[in-house]
Amino acid sequence: GCNGNGAAAAAGVVPEIKFTKLFINGEFVDAVSGKTFETRDPRTGAVLAHVAEADKADVDLGVKAARDAFDHGKWPRMSGYERGRLLSKFADLVDQHTEELAALDGADAGKLLLVGKVIDVPSATQMLRYYAGAADKIHGEVLRVSGKYQGYSLREPVGVAGVIIPWNFPTMMFFLKVSPALAAGCTVVVKPAEQTPLSALYYAHLAKLAGVPDGVINVVPGFGHTAGAAITSHMDVDTVAFTGSTEVGRLIMESAARSNLKPVSLELGGKSPLIIFDDADVDMAVNLSRLAIFFNKGEICAAGSRVYVQEGIYDEFVKKAVEAAQNWKVGDPFDVTTNMGPQVDKEQFEKVLKYIEHGKSEGATLLTGGKPAAAKGYYIEPTIFVDVTIAQEEIFGPVMALMKFKTVDEVIEKANCTRYGLVAGIVTKSLDVANRVSRAVRAGTVWVNCYFVFDPDAPFGGFKMSGFGQDQGLGAMDKFLQVKSVITALPDSPW
Ligand code: ADP
Repeated sequence: GCNGNGAAAAAGVVPEIKFTKLFINGEFVDAVSGKTFETRDPRTGAVLAHVAEADKADVDLGVKAARDAFDHGKWPRMSGYERGRLLSKFADLVDQHTEELAALDGADAGKLLLVGKVIDVPSATQMLRYYAGAADKIHGEVLRVSGKYQGYSLREPVGVAGVIIPWNFPTMMFFLKVSPALAAGCTVVVKPAEQTPLSALYYAHLAKLAGVPDGVINVVPGFGHTAGAAITSHMDVDTVAFTGSTEVGRLIMESAARSNLKPVSLELGGKSPLIIFDDADVDMAVNLSRLAIFFNKGEICAAGSRVYVQEGIYDEFVKKAVEAAQNWKVGDPFDVTTNMGPQVDKEQFEKVLKYIEHGKSEGATLLTGGKPAAAKGYYIEPTIFVDVTIAQEEIFGPVMALMKFKTVDEVIEKANCTRYGLVAGIVTKSLDVANRVSRAVRAGTVWVNCYFVFDPDAPFGGFKMSGFGQDQGLGAMDKFLQVKSVITALPDSPW
């Protein structure tokens, strides 16, 4: 249970770390090279664990295990119902370890423990159960074929799926990709981010306990240019599902094209607009805008980093937004009163501070924040800029760019003036404005009078350079399925 005086009780809490080796073919093993890498606690910068470091040789072993499990094993051959039952059992085991898993991500990524318990882990198991329930509902079609033939289509698992995920939501990202892949009957080789490898290893262990056969899930922690690149260029990997930066998404596509032309799905960066109209309830809009950029320290591809406020409420909004930012408590993520923990690592911490300096030198006005929020650890103050002329770069930190607009047409144009197109937010009481902007904005998800509402049944993915190949929804299984047409002659048909 949680206690009231979190700060004192929580300081320095580190969960026991049980799994630090690679998970290949149902076993925890050392890297072929024997190498390990450090994962650090962003609250202090201290080493949290030494984790086996996968490189090409380990990825080869992981892919071989996944290949064998796919080509010769039970997983793709058992009924969808049986696969679904095992996945449901897996979900139950994850739920039973919620507290521990939330703590693991908390220490590894600086994420709020409480949020992990009530959002990250439960949403992940909801996702897993959604696809568990879909495993026995994979249908083909009956085809009209001209002449004396009949046809039908089958949707078959594509094979070995490479899964490469980022560090901002280690648990949700794992299940976002792995759940539909496994439900479809694929086997997977997962490379968690080097900053946050711990929970993925735990999930591999729980899947085994649930009865998922060996080789179906393999986890190979390591770095992107080594382990990650070995997956994307592998001739025996049949598809790659990726979430991360646009730069790396481009590398992944190139590598897939140069090797075996494996299809890829990319969920990439964003610079998403949140548009607040004059008729909005200002307090509610301020709260939404604060959530949209400061939740999870701004380390969210879907963060509402460009906030457009209509001129009639602009001054009031700015005043209240600054107060709200100053009331957003930065501190130990294990303290239940904290709103925002540290950035994930030193590199991100320094990168965000550099963007802030850059903003100042470009002539933007800093209204609040802009500095480290503590003497140690990677904490940054909630930061708000106004008079921003160019808001194009994804900062991936707690930095809001606030801008004023006059008309609906003007703000639609500004909102779309980005190479990204992941999400957009709209705050208005007018149905006509909400409808018009929802349709005009070029983004994969639009939130009206809400923000960060994710659901397993709501497709999520980008327009433009935010990527393609959506997550969530039944359609997400298409990435892991391929269609086969079977056409049969009917020589004796009177037709
Ligand atoms: P972020 O900017 O959020 O750190 P990245 O795109 O750098 O996102 O990383 C997301 C994931 O992609 C991580 O697991 C990382 O190790 C991996 N990655 C980075 N570079 C490559 C690469 N060249 N090939 C494959 N995976 C990579």
